[in-house]
Amino acid sequence: MSTKVVPMFLSHGAPTLALALSPGEDKVRDFMQGLGRSLERPKAILAVSAHWETENPLLAETQHPETIHDFGGFPPELYRLSYPAPGAPDLARRVVGLLREAGFAAGTDPTWGLDHGAWVPLMNLFPKADVPVAQLSIQTHLGARHHLDVGRALAPLTKEGVLVMGSGGAVHNLRRLARPTGNGPEPWALEFEEWLAKSLAEGRIDDVVDFEVKAPHGRTAHPRPEHFYPLLVALGAAGEGAHGEALYRGFTHGNLSLASFCFAE
Ligand code: ZN
Repeated sequence: MSTKVVPMFLSHGAPTLALALSPGEDKVRDFMQGLGRSLERPKAILAVSAHWETENPLLAETQHPETIHDFGGFPPELYRLSYPAPGAPDLARRVVGLLREAGFAAGTDPTWGLDHGAWVPLMNLFPKADVPVAQLSIQTHLGARHHLDVGRALAPLTKEGVLVMGSGGAVHNLRRLARPTGNGPEPWALEFEEWLAKSLAEGRIDDVVDFEVKAPHGRTAHPRPEHFYPLLVALGAAGEGAHGEALYRGFTHGNLSLASFCFAE
């Protein structure tokens, strides 16, 4: 049976996930591949990646998005990967329209392709690269509520068969990673992830927006919140009464969460 398309948030871990090179990554790759097989085929994908930060919301309006290898110091085979999905310029323009209607100063960018926050999970979800993708940027300087509101403006997209896919990290503190062969997650990381899963399951949206204050170890889990904000966009896109369901829970590199969620009212 195929699963309906709903907004979701995927933790993309490290770029090595594309090749499942590190402990824990094979399991999340299997999860993502299974999820992709179980999903109704979306008409298009709006990918909201933590790795594209701009002043105002920008939509990549590209016919053939380039695979951007926006990382350094990883094995050479990662730099040879490409994800040749078609772009979705019509969707990009539709999203600009929705955002402008809601009062955001949104625009298009004809140069941006797909950064690894977008293509690493998509390569697992839709390995044939046959679903058109447009990317939407985040605005870290505008804070958490802004990203929920951006998501709320995008709520009509799900009914139109568009998959709103946030991609970031449920726990993302690069200063607190373990060596790849090191120990599992520390209590602070587990506690934050548990709080997040429970808050989303209970639909406590305001608490999730206010995670830096409300969550245990909120600022340790996200010393800089850009990997959290794509979650808020996807949550917002599911509507005002949205709840989140954990699709996957787990960690890699010690404290790097791979938790993924889908959202529905
Ligand atoms: Zn990342």
